[in-house]
Amino acid sequence: MARQKFDFDLIVIGSGAGGSAAATISAALGKRVAIIEKDDFGGESPNLGDIPMSAMLQTAQIFDSAKHGDRFGLRTNALSYNYPSIQEWKKLAVKRTGAGGNRNYYESKGISTFKGIARFITPHEITINRRHLSAENFLIATGSNFFIPNIPGLSDVNFHTMHSALNITRPPKTMFIIGSNSRAIELAELFSTFGTKVYLADSSARILPNEDEEVGLLLDKHLKEAKGITFLTHTRVLEVSKSSITKRVVIRRGGIERSINVEEVVVCLGTTPNVDLGLENADIEYDPTGIKVNNYLQTSQKHIFAAGDVLGRNSETQGALMESRVVAFNLYHRNKIIPDYLGAPRITWTNPNVVSIGMQEDDCLKRDLKVKKAIAPLNTTPRSNTADFRDGFVKLIADKNNVIIGATIVAPNGAEMAGELTLAVRLGMTAEQLRETPHAFLTWSEAIRIAASRLIN
Ligand SMILES: Cc1cc2nc3c(=O)[nH]c(=O)nc-3n(C[C@H](O)[C@H](O)[C@H](O)COP(=O)(O)OP(=O)(O)OC[C@H]3O[C@@H](n4cnc5c(N)ncnc54)[C@H](O)[C@@H]3O)c2cc1C
Repeated sequence: MARQKFDFDLIVIGSGAGGSAAATISAALGKRVAIIEKDDFGGESPNLGDIPMSAMLQTAQIFDSAKHGDRFGLRTNALSYNYPSIQEWKKLAVKRTGAGGNRNYYESKGISTFKGIARFITPHEITINRRHLSAENFLIATGSNFFIPNIPGLSDVNFHTMHSALNITRPPKTMFIIGSNSRAIELAELFSTFGTKVYLADSSARILPNEDEEVGLLLDKHLKEAKGITFLTHTRVLEVSKSSITKRVVIRRGGIERSINVEEVVVCLGTTPNVDLGLENADIEYDPTGIKVNNYLQTSQKHIFAAGDVLGRNSETQGALMESRVVAFNLYHRNKIIPDYLGAPRITWTNPNVVSIGMQEDDCLKRDLKVKKAIAPLNTTPRSNTADFRDGFVKLIADKNNVIIGATIVAPNGAEMAGELTLAVRLGMTAEQLRETPHAFLTWSEAIRIAASRLIN
């Protein structure tokens, strides 16, 4: 048999959502595939992000519902939790995903696995653990690192990131979270449910600044009242220092400086793409905001693709998976496809869930787009009476022909309602079609029908 020109048909760098789909699809097509991972196989989502967070929030939200069960006639005074057991439950949830920390998962799919840091040395060659590997094609899916701000004293205290915060061995008495994005709000809900006094600070005017105004205001009110979280918007963190066994956080708010002593500080300000892998040696264009790709996810070297957080698009797991599938197709087809992000839902997993689909009202205002909007508060649905929850809403955005172009849901289990509105946006459905779609009586989704009716009338 003739000697192969390259060691592999495809080398994937990074085994997270952005890398794994293309690797497994390529292996299923009979390609010689290698995947290189410097840390836990499976990447952030199963090991450190979505899955552990979801498992912990599930526990917190059940605990919270049970704690407030007296209004439904339940006796709840003996309710308590065991945090080490909650951590064990989280580990079980990670294990159940299959990919979490599991190199065998990839090998069982016929993929060669290598543990170590990959660096390009030429456009067709990388080093890993002093070994050279070559491939005809590459996929870079190296994800992102947390953005750590340059706050005096921060690096001298033992602060947490989103990853390490989920591994704290017991809920601290007090916690200061820097940032107010979805992940920060989820973490605030999680720890406050287990009794931690949480302070959360951001320079933005409201929490969840990427969502429409009423979303941040509603969550702020709800979480403040239900959990006693202190939201410090319009706030700058000036300094962090050690103060005996606690940490002292100095802030400025409304021109006034004050300090807050806490047990734990968590930095939760988003991420920056992980572009430190010798890209210049392969002539791959990039800058600190991410690797540059064309519509087909090819880098400036056409045989090297990139997908996931390393693109700097804040794609999240579903986006990274979709991009990875697009790469798998484009690697082996002359007629290439482009990723279609239309209607991809963005979710904050608090209770109530916050779901954004397609265009938000703020997006339309910024672009000066003339649109119609209608809101159905959850208390217009019978479900709000039986669930004793009245705070959320469904908001629909439509163009002048009543075609749905966006939606926001703030509702318990609102994420489970996302599919209908994602389809509506992707298929260009009208408010009339949504209104005429049967929605089961006593589901929260009746609010979608009501909002659709309000768009028409
Ligand atoms: C707490 C938390 C909760 C989240 N919840 C959600 C959610 O509910 N829904 C959602 O959609 N998203 C969520 N996300 C975001 C989501 O986890 C990421 O967007 C997603 O995992 C990105 O996938 P990726 O493949 O691009 O990167 P990653 O999963 O980070 O994979 C990149 C991999 O590359 C490896 N690597 C990097 N450099 C090299 C190198 N030089 N050599 C070898 N290996 C390398 C890294 O070790 C890593 O394993 C959450 C994130 C966090 C932190």
